[in-house]
Amino acid sequence: MKPDLFEAPDYYNLDDLLSDEHKLVRDATRAWVKRDVSPIIEDYAQNAEFPKQIIGGLAEIGAFGPYIPETYGGAGLDQISYGLIMQEIERGDSGIRSTASVQSSLVMYPIWKYGNEAQRKKYLPKLASGEWIGCFGLTEPDHGSNPSGMTTNFKDMGDHYLLNGAKMWISNAPFAQIAIVWAKDETGRIHGLIVERGMEGFTTPETHNKWSLRASATGELIFDNVKIPKENLLPNKSGLGAPLGCLDSARYGIAWGAIGAAMDCYDTALRYSKERMQFGKPIGQFQLQQKKLAEMITEITKAQLLTWRLGVLKNENKATSAQISMAKRNNVDMAITIARNARQMLGGMGITGEYSIMRHAMNLESVITYEGTHDIHLLITGLDITGLNAFK
Ligand SMILES: Cc1cc2nc3c(=O)[nH]c(=O)nc-3n(C[C@H](O)[C@H](O)[C@H](O)COP(=O)(O)OP(=O)(O)OC[C@H]3O[C@@H](n4cnc5c(N)ncnc54)[C@H](O)[C@@H]3O)c2cc1C
Repeated sequence: MKPDLFEAPDYYNLDDLLSDEHKLVRDATRAWVKRDVSPIIEDYAQNAEFPKQIIGGLAEIGAFGPYIPETYGGAGLDQISYGLIMQEIERGDSGIRSTASVQSSLVMYPIWKYGNEAQRKKYLPKLASGEWIGCFGLTEPDHGSNPSGMTTNFKDMGDHYLLNGAKMWISNAPFAQIAIVWAKDETGRIHGLIVERGMEGFTTPETHNKWSLRASATGELIFDNVKIPKENLLPNKSGLGAPLGCLDSARYGIAWGAIGAAMDCYDTALRYSKERMQFGKPIGQFQLQQKKLAEMITEITKAQLLTWRLGVLKNENKATSAQISMAKRNNVDMAITIARNARQMLGGMGITGEYSIMRHAMNLESVITYEGTHDIHLLITGLDITGLNAFK
C-alpha cells in the first residue's frame, strides 16, 4: 500500500469551532492511525483478519469509552471528542472503527447507563484498557430491522436464568470476552444480559466470506441452555428503548466515522488527480474530474457542519434519536457516493489495494446497512416529521 500522505480537508475552517482539547485528541488519533493502522490495514483486510495487536493502542488513544467517566477507566471526554476519534479511526478503516464503536457505545455504554455499581466496577475498567473486548447481540437470523420480534429468551430458574436463542452478524463476536445480549423474559419484555465466554452452552462461530469490513471479525452468538448468574442482568432499563439507546450513541459515532472515510477517499483522489497525466495534462485539469472533486468537498463540508452541530446538541443532552438517524443516513450515503466517484477517478488503480478507496467503498456497504439500514433511517425521519408510522 502507498505511504499514508493524508491531509484533512477543512474547507469552512471548522477547526475554529473546536477546542484545544478536541484538536489534541483528534491529532493524537490521526497520528496513531498513520503510524499503527495505515501500514498494516490493507494486508489484514485482504486476509480477512482483525489486527489484534492494535487493541492496546486503541485503549491508549481513549477509543474505548471516550465519554465514560475516568472513575471507571474511560477517557471522560465530551461528545465532539468522541466523534473526532471515530472520524480519525474510520479514516483508517471502518472495521477498526466498528470495534471501537461496539466496545464504547454498545458494551460500555449499557453497562454504565443500565448496569449497577458492581457491574460498572467489574467490567468497565477492563473494557477501557482493552483487557476485555465486548460485543453486542441484538440482530437475529429472522429479526434484523425489526428487533422487537426477537425470539432469544430467558427463564427464571430461581437462582439463575436459562438463556436460549441465537444472534447473527455480531461484530467482535469471535474473540469477545463478554457479550451484551438482548433477550425476552417470560412476559416478553426485553432485557440486557452480560454473557461471558466460557459459560457452558455459549458459542461464537465466525462468519466467513465477507467482501466488506474484512478487517473486523463478525460472528454468531449461540445460546443453548446457558446458565446466567442473576447478577448479570442489567437492572436499570428494560424494553426495546434500552438497546435503542445504545444504538443512538453508536449511530452518532458512525455519523462522524463516515466523514473520515469520505475525507480519505477525497484526499486520495485529489492528490492522484494532480499527479496522473493523460492527454498531456493532469487529469485534475479536466472539468469532469473537477466536478467530482468539487462535489465531494461540498458534501464533506455539509456533513462536517451537520455533525458538529449534532455534537453540540449531544453535549447539551438535546440531540434526538431522529436527529442522529438523519446524520447517520446522510453521512454514510455521502461517504459511499464519494468512495464510488473517487474510485473511478483512480481508473484501474482504484480497484487495487495500493490505495485505500476500494476498501472504504466495500466497508461502507456494511456501514450503510448496520445500526439501522439507509431505508430504516429514512422511515425514522418520515415518522418524526409526519407523526405517521410507515414501518408496518
Ligand atoms: C458487518 C456487519 C456487522 C454487524 N454488526 C452487528 C452487531 O455487532 N450487533 C448486532 O446486533 N447487529 C449487527 N449487524 C446487523 C445489522 O444491524 C443488520 O444487518 C441490519 O439491522 C439489517 O438487518 P437485516 O440484515 O436482517 O436486514 P432486513 O431487516 O432483512 O432488511 C432487508 C431490507 O429490507 C428493508 N426493510 C426492512 N424493513 C423495512 C420496512 N419496514 N420498510 C421498508 N424497508 C424495510 C431494509 O431496509 C433492507 O433494505 C451487523 C451487520 C453487518 C453486515
